[in-house]
Amino acid sequence: MLEKIVIANRGEIALRILRACRELGIKTVAVFSEVDRKQKHVRLADESVCIGPAVSSESYLNIPAVISAAEITDAVAIHPGYGFLAENADFAERVEESGFIFIGPRADTLRLMGSKTSAREEMRKFGVPCVPGSAGTIGDNLDELGRLARRIGYPVIIKAAAGGGGRGMRVVRSEATLRNAMAVTRAEAATAFGDDTLYMEKFLDHPRHIEIQVLADEKGNVIHLGERDCSMQRRHQKVIEEAPAIGIADEMRAEIGNSCVNACRAMGYRGAGTIEFLYEDGEFYFIEMNTRIQVEHPVTEMVTGVDIVKEQLRIAHGDELSYKQDDIRFNGHAIECRINAEDPDTFMPSPGKIQHLHQPGGPGIRIDTHIYDGYSIPPHYDSMIAKLIAHAETRELALARMSTALSELVIDGIKTNIPVHQKLLDDAAFISGGTDIHYLENKLGLK
Ligand code: ADP
Repeated sequence: MLEKIVIANRGEIALRILRACRELGIKTVAVFSEVDRKQKHVRLADESVCIGPAVSSESYLNIPAVISAAEITDAVAIHPGYGFLAENADFAERVEESGFIFIGPRADTLRLMGSKTSAREEMRKFGVPCVPGSAGTIGDNLDELGRLARRIGYPVIIKAAAGGGGRGMRVVRSEATLRNAMAVTRAEAATAFGDDTLYMEKFLDHPRHIEIQVLADEKGNVIHLGERDCSMQRRHQKVIEEAPAIGIADEMRAEIGNSCVNACRAMGYRGAGTIEFLYEDGEFYFIEMNTRIQVEHPVTEMVTGVDIVKEQLRIAHGDELSYKQDDIRFNGHAIECRINAEDPDTFMPSPGKIQHLHQPGGPGIRIDTHIYDGYSIPPHYDSMIAKLIAHAETRELALARMSTALSELVIDGIKTNIPVHQKLLDDAAFISGGTDIHYLENKLGLK
């Protein structure tokens, strides 16, 4: 096995990776910013290195600092987690050039999938269905754009090719707002992603967000672990995820899963990945591929029993996948609620000190979190502080377990979105299932 790795992340995912390393006998190096010295995984890691000040551009996004940490600790590999440098092709390249293993796909795959336009072309080439839209990127000629939008059919959505995190997209409902939407999205893309390349897609009115988890080793073995439904979103950000997606029959899962597996095999994919689709009226439409571990991976782990992070580590070591497609069985139903340090009414971040924490438990309950009594949540990073996961034989029971767990979970000292989750778990449409991606914002007035 890999001897020692650097965990180039923070928070719950850093702890999740550390736990997987422990089980595999891999030594760990935590890297942390000046405000993260008291993170749980930093205390538990075999070694730790401070890589810079709180602001992530100078620490968690500081490529030379992260690589130096691997050098001075004699680590052999770097796990980027999600966010930060996870999908940065230049980082992956420099990690490998410096003689370390990047725990993820090859840099050229990151580059290909990192641009949503090249990812679309690639997927289309391999027979994966895509959202109807522009053939590639779009320019600024309004006449041409108007023609394109009419051909696709309004409403359309203008999206940044380099976009991520639900930012850099704008819906256009009529020609009158096309010019303005183009200008605003281009400016936003330039500032947020340093790349103002845009493309256009049909805006689907009532889709669900359904994604397929894949695993691929270096020997060309590729499997899928079924789907997750992540339709409960606010501002294009996931709030609740579940597996399986209700209403997806076994044959349909096998069909879309196999199409993802074939695409990954054809592009020589390596590691864990997620192919995201919008699903409307019985059809799947590819939107993007995430070339890393995802926040919502636990729901898939709960229903398949596969430890996705351990598979990532084994793949990085050059091992074959521990499973064949036929070994994968789907058991019961799992739901994940993302617990954020934020005001439940305004959604403004609510950093601060946790005065008292009480974690829920009982059958089928898993909580992935780095917080503890007395821990101070810094204001510099993402507001997600915990993931609460409930697993049971049926969706109904998983929902009941989640409700109980939410009522047991106490996080004093800061505001959290626990009340939002409680409201959702009482909502008739969510309980019956299959709501679309606009449901949370529209029906519940949670814009
Ligand atoms: P990001 O990389 O920022 O996550 P995605 O392309 O994955 O961006 O889209 C994020 C979310 O935005 C989707 O889950 C969906 O809610 C919405 N979205 C994206 N494209 C479309 C579309 N063509 N029609 C309707 N909604 C869309």
